[in-house]
Amino acid sequence: MNRKVIKRVHSKTISMLVIVYNKILRVSVAVNCDNDIFITVEQALIRMTNAVRSIAQVENVSLEAALARPLAETICSPINVPPYDNSAMDGYALNLSTESTNTRYQVVSQILAGRPCDIKIKSGECARIMTGGKIPAGCNAVIMQENVRQIGDSHIELTKAVQLGDNIRKCGDDIGEGQTIFTLGRKLSAIDIGCLASLGLTHVRVFKRLTIGIFTTGDELAQPGEKLQAGQIYDSNRPMLKALLNQAGFDVVDAGVIQDEKEAIKSRIKKLSETCDAIITCGGVSVGVADYTGKAFSELGEIDFWKVAMKPGKPFAFGKINHQHKTVILFGLPGNPVSSAVTFEILTLPMLRLMSGQQAQSTNTLYLPTNQTIKKRPGRRDYQRAIIQRNEYGTPVAVTPFAKQSSGVLSELAHADCLIVLEKEQDGVEVDQYVLVLPVAK
Ligand code: AMP
Ligand code: MG
Repeated sequence: MNRKVIKRVHSKTISMLVIVYNKILRVSVAVNCDNDIFITVEQALIRMTNAVRSIAQVENVSLEAALARPLAETICSPINVPPYDNSAMDGYALNLSTESTNTRYQVVSQILAGRPCDIKIKSGECARIMTGGKIPAGCNAVIMQENVRQIGDSHIELTKAVQLGDNIRKCGDDIGEGQTIFTLGRKLSAIDIGCLASLGLTHVRVFKRLTIGIFTTGDELAQPGEKLQAGQIYDSNRPMLKALLNQAGFDVVDAGVIQDEKEAIKSRIKKLSETCDAIITCGGVSVGVADYTGKAFSELGEIDFWKVAMKPGKPFAFGKINHQHKTVILFGLPGNPVSSAVTFEILTLPMLRLMSGQQAQSTNTLYLPTNQTIKKRPGRRDYQRAIIQRNEYGTPVAVTPFAKQSSGVLSELAHADCLIVLEKEQDGVEVDQYVLVLPVAK
Protein backbone atom coordinates (compact mmCIF):
# COMPACT_ATOMS: atom_id res chain seq x y z
CA MET A 1 0.00 0.00 0.00
CA ASN A 2 1.32 3.40 -0.92
CA ARG A 3 1.15 5.24 2.38
CA LYS A 4 2.72 8.52 3.18
CA VAL A 5 3.85 8.37 6.74
CA ILE A 6 3.50 11.68 8.50
CA LYS A 7 6.04 12.49 11.14
CA ARG A 8 4.41 13.77 14.23
CA VAL A 9 5.80 17.05 15.47
CA HIS A 10 3.99 16.66 18.74
CA SER A 11 5.86 13.44 19.47
CA LYS A 12 7.99 15.79 21.58
CA THR A 13 5.10 16.24 23.98
CA ILE A 14 4.61 12.50 24.19
CA SER A 15 8.32 11.90 24.82
CA MET A 16 8.17 14.42 27.66
CA LEU A 17 5.22 12.56 29.11
CA VAL A 18 7.07 9.27 28.85
CA ILE A 19 10.15 10.72 30.56
CA VAL A 20 8.05 12.09 33.41
CA TYR A 21 6.19 8.81 33.80
CA ASN A 22 9.46 6.92 33.82
CA LYS A 23 10.89 9.14 36.49
CA ILE A 24 7.86 8.76 38.67
CA LEU A 25 7.49 5.07 38.21
CA ARG A 26 11.20 4.24 37.92
CA VAL A 27 10.48 1.80 35.17
CA SER A 28 12.34 1.38 31.98
CA VAL A 29 10.05 1.32 29.01
CA ALA A 30 12.52 -0.83 27.19
CA VAL A 31 12.57 -3.59 29.79
CA ASN A 32 11.85 -6.94 28.36
CA CYS A 33 8.93 -7.70 30.55
CA ASP A 34 7.54 -11.12 31.21
CA ASN A 35 4.19 -11.19 29.45
CA ASP A 36 2.57 -12.91 32.35
CA ILE A 37 2.96 -10.09 34.87
CA PHE A 38 0.54 -7.37 35.74
CA ILE A 39 1.58 -3.96 34.57
CA THR A 40 0.17 -0.71 35.87
CA VAL A 41 -2.09 1.54 33.81
CA GLU A 42 0.78 4.06 33.41
CA GLN A 43 3.18 1.36 32.29
CA ALA A 44 0.62 0.12 29.79
CA LEU A 45 0.14 3.65 28.44
CA ILE A 46 3.89 4.23 28.14
CA ARG A 47 4.54 0.94 26.42
CA MET A 48 1.70 1.48 23.98
CA THR A 49 2.73 5.10 23.35
CA ASN A 50 6.20 3.86 22.42
CA ALA A 51 4.77 1.24 20.10
CA VAL A 52 2.27 3.33 18.16
CA ARG A 53 2.98 6.30 15.95
CA SER A 54 1.01 8.64 13.78
CA ILE A 55 0.28 6.73 10.59
CA ALA A 56 -2.56 8.76 9.18
CA GLN A 57 -2.29 10.07 5.63
CA VAL A 58 -3.05 13.67 4.72
CA GLU A 59 -5.88 15.08 2.65
CA ASN A 60 -7.06 18.53 1.70
CA VAL A 61 -10.70 19.04 2.67
CA SER A 62 -13.21 21.87 2.59
CA LEU A 63 -13.95 23.60 5.91
CA GLU A 64 -17.35 21.94 5.85
CA ALA A 65 -15.71 18.51 5.95
CA ALA A 66 -13.04 19.47 8.49
CA LEU A 67 -15.06 19.32 11.69
CA ALA A 68 -13.48 17.04 14.33
CA ARG A 69 -10.56 16.19 12.06
CA PRO A 70 -6.95 16.60 13.29
CA LEU A 71 -5.04 19.32 11.44
CA ALA A 72 -2.15 18.03 9.36
CA GLU A 73 -0.58 21.49 9.21
CA THR A 74 0.05 24.48 11.41
CA ILE A 75 -2.09 27.41 10.36
CA CYS A 76 -0.57 30.91 10.27
CA SER A 77 -2.88 33.75 9.40
CA PRO A 78 -2.42 35.21 5.90
CA ILE A 79 -4.24 38.42 6.93
CA ASN A 80 -5.10 40.67 9.82
CA VAL A 81 -8.47 39.94 11.42
CA PRO A 82 -10.24 42.29 11.38
CA PRO A 83 -8.55 43.62 8.25
CA TYR A 84 -9.22 47.30 9.15
CA ASP A 85 -10.11 49.40 12.19
CA ASN A 86 -13.88 49.29 12.60
CA SER A 87 -16.62 50.35 14.94
CA ALA A 88 -17.80 48.06 17.75
CA MET A 89 -21.01 50.10 18.15
CA ASP A 90 -23.72 51.94 16.32
CA GLY A 91 -22.76 55.54 17.12
CA TYR A 92 -20.50 58.36 16.01
CA ALA A 93 -16.85 58.19 14.99
CA LEU A 94 -15.17 61.28 16.47
CA ASN A 95 -12.09 63.30 15.74
CA LEU A 96 -11.40 63.53 19.46
CA SER A 97 -8.82 65.99 20.67
CA THR A 98 -7.13 65.49 24.01
CA GLU A 99 -6.48 69.23 24.28
CA SER A 100 -10.02 70.54 23.83
CA THR A 101 -13.01 69.85 26.02
CA ASN A 102 -15.32 70.14 23.03
CA THR A 103 -18.52 68.11 23.41
CA ARG A 104 -20.30 69.36 20.30
CA TYR A 105 -19.56 67.80 16.90
CA GLN A 106 -20.80 68.39 13.38
CA VAL A 107 -22.03 65.21 11.65
CA VAL A 108 -20.46 65.29 8.16
CA SER A 109 -20.91 61.75 6.89
CA GLN A 110 -22.59 58.39 7.41
CA ILE A 111 -20.70 55.06 7.24
CA LEU A 112 -22.42 51.69 7.00
CA ALA A 113 -20.69 48.28 7.37
CA GLY A 114 -19.24 47.30 3.99
CA ARG A 115 -19.52 50.90 2.65
CA PRO A 116 -16.29 52.64 3.62
CA CYS A 117 -16.00 56.34 2.98
CA ASP A 118 -12.91 58.18 1.86
CA ILE A 119 -13.40 61.52 3.52
CA LYS A 120 -11.14 62.72 6.30
CA ILE A 121 -12.93 63.81 9.46
CA LYS A 122 -11.49 67.07 10.75
CA SER A 123 -11.32 68.50 14.26
CA GLY A 124 -14.81 69.22 15.61
CA GLU A 125 -16.40 66.82 13.13
CA CYS A 126 -17.77 63.32 13.37
CA ALA A 127 -19.37 60.64 11.17
CA ARG A 128 -22.43 58.58 11.98
CA ILE A 129 -21.16 54.99 11.91
CA MET A 130 -22.75 51.54 12.18
CA THR A 131 -21.24 48.46 13.87
CA GLY A 132 -18.53 47.01 11.60
CA GLY A 133 -18.21 50.26 9.61
CA LYS A 134 -14.62 51.23 8.65
CA ILE A 135 -13.29 54.00 10.87
CA PRO A 136 -12.68 56.98 8.62
CA ALA A 137 -9.37 58.84 8.53
CA GLY A 138 -9.06 61.40 11.32
CA CYS A 139 -11.22 59.50 13.83
CA ASN A 140 -9.83 58.04 17.03
CA ALA A 141 -12.90 57.09 19.09
CA VAL A 142 -16.52 56.01 18.70
CA ILE A 143 -19.27 57.06 21.07
CA MET A 144 -22.36 54.88 21.20
CA GLN A 145 -25.49 56.57 19.95
CA GLU A 146 -27.25 56.25 23.32
CA ASN A 147 -24.63 58.66 24.75
CA VAL A 148 -25.29 61.64 22.48
CA ARG A 149 -28.04 64.21 22.10
CA GLN A 150 -29.11 65.50 18.71
CA ILE A 151 -28.65 69.26 18.23
CA GLY A 152 -30.63 70.27 15.20
CA ASP A 153 -30.15 68.31 11.95
CA SER A 154 -26.38 68.27 11.73
CA HIS A 155 -24.86 68.34 15.19
CA ILE A 156 -24.59 66.10 18.24
CA GLU A 157 -23.58 66.74 21.82
CA LEU A 158 -21.79 64.11 23.89
CA THR A 159 -23.62 63.29 27.11
CA LYS A 160 -20.87 60.99 28.43
CA ALA A 161 -17.09 61.23 28.51
CA VAL A 162 -15.16 59.39 25.74
CA GLN A 163 -11.58 58.11 25.83
CA LEU A 164 -9.21 57.79 22.87
CA GLY A 165 -9.73 54.39 21.20
CA ASP A 166 -13.15 53.78 22.74
CA ASN A 167 -15.29 51.29 20.76
CA ILE A 168 -12.73 50.87 17.98
CA ARG A 169 -11.86 47.29 17.02
CA LYS A 170 -8.28 47.61 15.82
CA CYS A 171 -6.95 45.99 12.68
CA GLY A 172 -5.44 42.57 13.65
CA ASP A 173 -6.94 42.74 17.14
CA ASP A 174 -8.39 39.23 16.80
CA ILE A 175 -5.62 37.55 14.80
CA GLY A 176 -2.49 39.29 13.48
CA GLU A 177 -1.08 38.61 10.00
CA GLY A 178 1.49 35.78 10.28
CA GLN A 179 0.27 34.74 13.73
CA THR A 180 0.05 31.00 14.45
CA ILE A 181 -3.57 30.28 15.11
CA PHE A 182 -3.74 26.47 15.26
CA THR A 183 -0.95 23.92 15.49
CA LEU A 184 -0.54 20.53 13.84
CA GLY A 185 -2.69 17.81 15.40
CA ARG A 186 -5.43 20.08 16.74
CA LYS A 187 -8.84 18.44 16.51
CA LEU A 188 -10.96 21.07 14.83
CA SER A 189 -14.04 22.31 16.69
CA ALA A 190 -16.98 24.19 15.22
CA ILE A 191 -15.51 27.42 16.61
CA ASP A 192 -12.15 26.59 14.99
CA ILE A 193 -13.94 26.25 11.65
CA GLY A 194 -15.28 29.78 12.18
CA CYS A 195 -11.77 31.10 12.91
CA LEU A 196 -10.40 29.44 9.77
CA ALA A 197 -13.19 31.00 7.72
CA SER A 198 -12.35 34.40 9.24
CA LEU A 199 -8.90 34.02 7.63
CA GLY A 200 -10.55 33.53 4.25
CA LEU A 201 -9.54 29.87 3.99
CA THR A 202 -11.76 27.44 2.11
CA HIS A 203 -9.74 24.24 2.60
CA VAL A 204 -7.32 22.83 5.17
CA ARG A 205 -5.01 19.84 5.30
CA VAL A 206 -6.23 17.26 7.78
CA PHE A 207 -5.34 13.67 8.64
CA LYS A 208 -7.43 11.00 6.97
CA ARG A 209 -9.68 8.99 9.20
CA LEU A 210 -8.14 5.73 10.38
CA THR A 211 -9.89 2.46 9.69
CA ILE A 212 -10.40 0.25 12.70
CA GLY A 213 -11.47 -3.37 12.41
CA ILE A 214 -13.58 -4.89 15.13
CA PHE A 215 -15.07 -8.23 16.08
CA THR A 216 -16.43 -9.89 19.19
CA THR A 217 -15.82 -13.48 20.26
CA GLY A 218 -17.92 -15.87 22.27
CA ASP A 219 -20.00 -19.02 21.76
CA GLU A 220 -22.66 -17.51 24.02
CA LEU A 221 -23.29 -14.41 21.92
CA ALA A 222 -26.58 -13.92 20.09
CA GLN A 223 -27.25 -10.91 17.93
CA PRO A 224 -29.93 -8.36 18.85
CA GLY A 225 -33.06 -9.32 16.90
CA GLU A 226 -32.39 -13.06 17.31
CA LYS A 227 -34.26 -15.19 19.83
CA LEU A 228 -32.09 -15.99 22.83
CA GLN A 229 -31.37 -19.71 23.26
CA ALA A 230 -30.51 -21.27 26.64
CA GLY A 231 -27.10 -20.04 27.78
CA GLN A 232 -26.99 -17.13 25.38
CA ILE A 233 -26.71 -13.38 25.94
CA TYR A 234 -26.88 -10.57 23.46
CA ASP A 235 -23.69 -9.20 21.94
CA SER A 236 -23.91 -5.72 23.46
CA ASN A 237 -20.24 -4.86 23.09
CA ARG A 238 -19.95 -4.80 19.33
CA PRO A 239 -22.63 -2.13 18.77
CA MET A 240 -21.23 -0.20 21.76
CA LEU A 241 -17.62 -0.30 20.58
CA LYS A 242 -18.64 0.56 17.03
CA ALA A 243 -20.58 3.55 18.34
CA LEU A 244 -17.62 4.63 20.51
CA LEU A 245 -15.34 4.43 17.48
CA ASN A 246 -17.76 6.34 15.27
CA GLN A 247 -18.20 8.97 17.96
CA ALA A 248 -14.42 9.40 18.11
CA GLY A 249 -14.23 9.88 14.32
CA PHE A 250 -12.93 6.53 13.06
CA ASP A 251 -14.11 4.45 10.12
CA VAL A 252 -15.09 0.98 11.29
CA VAL A 253 -14.91 -2.37 9.55
CA ASP A 254 -17.30 -4.63 11.43
CA ALA A 255 -16.15 -8.25 11.16
CA GLY A 256 -19.05 -9.59 13.20
CA VAL A 257 -18.98 -12.17 15.94
CA ILE A 258 -16.76 -15.26 16.00
CA GLN A 259 -17.07 -18.52 17.92
CA ASP A 260 -14.41 -19.34 20.50
CA GLU A 261 -12.03 -20.97 18.02
CA LYS A 262 -8.41 -19.94 17.71
CA GLU A 263 -8.07 -20.54 13.97
CA ALA A 264 -11.25 -18.62 13.20
CA ILE A 265 -10.01 -15.69 15.30
CA LYS A 266 -6.61 -15.78 13.57
CA SER A 267 -8.07 -15.79 10.10
CA ARG A 268 -10.41 -12.87 10.95
CA ILE A 269 -7.44 -10.86 12.27
CA LYS A 270 -5.42 -11.65 9.13
CA LYS A 271 -8.29 -10.59 6.88
CA LEU A 272 -8.86 -7.34 8.77
CA SER A 273 -5.16 -6.48 8.72
CA GLU A 274 -5.35 -6.13 4.94
CA THR A 275 -7.53 -3.03 5.20
CA CYS A 276 -7.28 -1.78 8.79
CA ASP A 277 -4.82 0.36 10.73
CA ALA A 278 -5.74 -1.24 14.05
CA ILE A 279 -7.91 -4.13 15.15
CA ILE A 280 -10.04 -4.29 18.28
CA THR A 281 -11.17 -7.68 19.47
CA CYS A 282 -13.51 -8.25 22.36
CA GLY A 283 -13.64 -11.24 24.70
CA GLY A 284 -11.56 -14.36 25.15
CA VAL A 285 -8.49 -12.52 26.35
CA SER A 286 -8.36 -14.00 29.83
CA VAL A 287 -7.15 -17.37 31.12
CA GLY A 288 -10.31 -19.45 30.61
CA VAL A 289 -10.14 -22.68 28.62
CA ALA A 290 -12.00 -21.03 25.74
CA ASP A 291 -9.95 -17.80 25.75
CA TYR A 292 -8.10 -17.80 22.45
CA THR A 293 -7.58 -14.14 21.56
CA GLY A 294 -4.23 -13.75 23.37
CA LYS A 295 -2.94 -16.95 21.79
CA ALA A 296 -4.10 -15.80 18.36
CA PHE A 297 -2.26 -12.47 18.83
CA SER A 298 1.01 -14.13 19.80
CA GLU A 299 0.87 -16.72 17.03
CA LEU A 300 0.25 -14.05 14.38
CA GLY A 301 2.59 -11.38 15.69
CA GLU A 302 3.85 -10.07 19.01
CA ILE A 303 1.93 -9.63 22.19
CA ASP A 304 3.42 -7.00 24.47
CA PHE A 305 1.26 -7.44 27.57
CA TRP A 306 -2.10 -8.88 28.42
CA LYS A 307 -2.75 -8.04 32.06
CA VAL A 308 -3.20 -4.56 33.44
CA ALA A 309 -3.63 -3.82 37.13
CA MET A 310 -6.98 -2.12 36.78
CA LYS A 311 -10.57 -2.87 37.71
CA PRO A 312 -12.61 -3.28 35.62
CA GLY A 313 -10.42 -4.57 32.84
CA LYS A 314 -7.64 -6.78 34.18
CA PRO A 315 -7.34 -8.82 30.99
CA PHE A 316 -6.39 -6.42 28.20
CA ALA A 317 -3.99 -7.48 25.48
CA PHE A 318 -1.83 -5.22 23.39
CA GLY A 319 0.18 -6.42 20.44
CA LYS A 320 0.97 -5.92 16.80
CA ILE A 321 1.32 -7.88 13.61
CA ASN A 322 3.11 -7.04 10.42
CA HIS A 323 1.08 -7.16 7.28
CA GLN A 324 3.13 -6.65 4.12
CA HIS A 325 4.82 -3.25 4.73
CA LYS A 326 2.68 -2.02 7.53
CA THR A 327 2.24 -2.71 11.22
CA VAL A 328 -1.27 -3.29 12.46
CA ILE A 329 -1.91 -2.59 16.13
CA LEU A 330 -4.01 -5.09 18.09
CA PHE A 331 -6.12 -4.26 21.12
CA GLY A 332 -7.68 -7.26 22.87
CA LEU A 333 -10.48 -5.96 25.06
CA PRO A 334 -12.12 -8.03 27.78
CA GLY A 335 -15.65 -9.28 27.20
CA ASN A 336 -17.34 -7.99 30.33
CA PRO A 337 -19.23 -4.99 28.99
CA VAL A 338 -18.06 -2.45 31.58
CA SER A 339 -14.48 -3.70 31.24
CA SER A 340 -14.75 -3.33 27.47
CA ALA A 341 -15.99 0.24 27.70
CA VAL A 342 -13.51 1.33 30.38
CA THR A 343 -10.45 -0.23 28.73
CA PHE A 344 -11.56 1.34 25.47
CA GLU A 345 -11.74 4.79 27.08
CA ILE A 346 -8.63 4.57 29.29
CA LEU A 347 -6.24 2.46 27.22
CA THR A 348 -7.40 2.16 23.63
CA LEU A 349 -8.80 5.53 22.61
CA PRO A 350 -5.71 7.57 23.63
CA MET A 351 -3.59 5.30 21.41
CA LEU A 352 -5.97 5.52 18.46
CA ARG A 353 -5.86 9.29 18.82
CA LEU A 354 -2.05 9.28 18.67
CA MET A 355 -2.16 7.06 15.60
CA SER A 356 -4.64 9.37 13.94
CA GLY A 357 -2.37 12.41 14.31
CA GLN A 358 -4.25 14.12 17.12
CA GLN A 359 -2.49 16.14 19.77
CA ALA A 360 -2.54 14.53 23.22
CA GLN A 361 -5.56 15.77 25.14
CA SER A 362 -5.52 16.76 28.76
CA THR A 363 -8.19 15.15 30.90
CA ASN A 364 -10.36 17.30 33.12
CA THR A 365 -10.36 15.63 36.49
CA LEU A 366 -11.61 16.96 39.80
CA TYR A 367 -11.37 16.04 43.47
CA LEU A 368 -14.63 15.61 45.34
CA PRO A 369 -15.62 14.18 48.72
CA THR A 370 -17.45 10.86 48.46
CA ASN A 371 -20.77 10.66 50.30
CA GLN A 372 -20.58 6.85 50.56
CA THR A 373 -17.90 4.57 51.89
CA ILE A 374 -16.10 2.72 49.10
CA LYS A 375 -14.71 -0.78 49.46
CA LYS A 376 -11.43 -1.60 47.76
CA ARG A 377 -8.49 -3.94 48.13
CA PRO A 378 -4.94 -2.85 47.19
CA GLY A 379 -3.53 -4.34 43.98
CA ARG A 380 -5.38 -2.71 41.10
CA ARG A 381 -6.45 0.78 40.11
CA ASP A 382 -10.23 1.03 40.40
CA TYR A 383 -12.52 2.96 38.10
CA GLN A 384 -15.81 3.03 40.02
CA ARG A 385 -19.00 4.17 38.36
CA ALA A 386 -20.53 7.19 40.11
CA ILE A 387 -22.67 10.31 39.90
CA ILE A 388 -21.46 13.85 40.58
CA GLN A 389 -23.67 15.79 43.03
CA ARG A 390 -24.11 19.51 42.34
CA ASN A 391 -25.38 22.44 44.39
CA GLU A 392 -28.13 24.79 43.20
CA TYR A 393 -25.60 26.68 41.01
CA GLY A 394 -24.49 23.49 39.25
CA THR A 395 -21.11 23.40 41.02
CA PRO A 396 -19.90 19.85 41.80
CA VAL A 397 -19.86 19.32 45.58
CA ALA A 398 -19.68 15.56 46.14
CA VAL A 399 -19.67 12.21 44.38
CA THR A 400 -21.87 9.16 44.94
CA PRO A 401 -20.50 5.78 43.85
CA PHE A 402 -23.11 3.26 42.68
CA ALA A 403 -23.78 0.30 44.93
CA LYS A 404 -23.35 -2.19 42.06
CA GLN A 405 -19.80 -2.17 40.70
CA SER A 406 -19.85 -5.43 38.79
CA SER A 407 -18.08 -5.34 35.43
CA GLY A 408 -21.13 -7.03 33.93
CA VAL A 409 -23.57 -4.25 34.89
CA LEU A 410 -23.50 -2.01 31.83
CA SER A 411 -26.64 -0.04 32.76
CA GLU A 412 -24.81 1.49 35.75
CA LEU A 413 -22.11 2.78 33.44
CA ALA A 414 -24.80 4.20 31.17
CA HIS A 415 -26.23 6.16 34.11
CA ALA A 416 -22.87 7.20 35.56
CA ASP A 417 -21.52 10.62 34.70
CA CYS A 418 -18.07 9.96 36.14
CA LEU A 419 -15.59 7.36 37.27
CA ILE A 420 -13.97 7.52 40.71
CA VAL A 421 -10.32 6.63 40.28
CA LEU A 422 -8.80 4.85 43.28
CA GLU A 423 -5.07 4.25 43.15
CA LYS A 424 -3.59 0.79 42.92
CA GLU A 425 -2.20 0.46 46.41
CA GLN A 426 -4.99 2.32 48.15
CA ASP A 427 -7.69 0.51 50.09
CA GLY A 428 -11.24 1.58 51.01
CA VAL A 429 -12.41 5.18 51.32
CA GLU A 430 -14.47 6.70 54.15
CA VAL A 431 -17.37 9.14 53.78
CA ASP A 432 -16.18 12.74 53.14
CA GLN A 433 -12.73 11.61 51.99
CA TYR A 434 -11.69 13.33 48.74
CA VAL A 435 -11.34 11.12 45.67
CA LEU A 436 -10.15 11.67 42.11
CA VAL A 437 -13.12 11.99 39.74
CA LEU A 438 -12.93 11.52 35.98
CA PRO A 439 -16.04 12.86 34.22
CA VAL A 440 -17.24 10.62 31.40
CA ALA A 441 -17.95 12.25 28.08
CA LYS A 442 -21.40 11.28 26.83
P1 AMP B 1 -14.68 -13.16 28.20
O1 AMP B 1 -13.87 -11.90 28.21
O2 AMP B 1 -14.84 -13.74 26.83
O3 AMP B 1 -14.15 -14.15 29.18
O4 AMP B 1 -16.13 -12.76 28.68
C1 AMP B 1 -16.35 -12.25 29.97
C2 AMP B 1 -17.82 -12.03 30.19
O5 AMP B 1 -18.29 -11.07 29.28
C3 AMP B 1 -18.66 -13.26 29.97
O6 AMP B 1 -19.71 -13.26 30.91
C4 AMP B 1 -19.21 -13.06 28.56
O7 AMP B 1 -20.42 -13.72 28.35
C5 AMP B 1 -19.37 -11.56 28.50
N1 AMP B 1 -19.22 -11.09 27.13
C6 AMP B 1 -18.23 -11.42 26.30
N2 AMP B 1 -18.38 -10.82 25.11
C7 AMP B 1 -19.50 -10.08 25.22
C8 AMP B 1 -20.19 -9.23 24.30
N3 AMP B 1 -19.74 -9.03 23.06
N4 AMP B 1 -21.31 -8.61 24.73
C9 AMP B 1 -21.76 -8.84 25.99
N5 AMP B 1 -21.15 -9.62 26.88
C10 AMP B 1 -20.04 -10.24 26.50
MG1 MG C 1 -15.58 -15.45 26.03
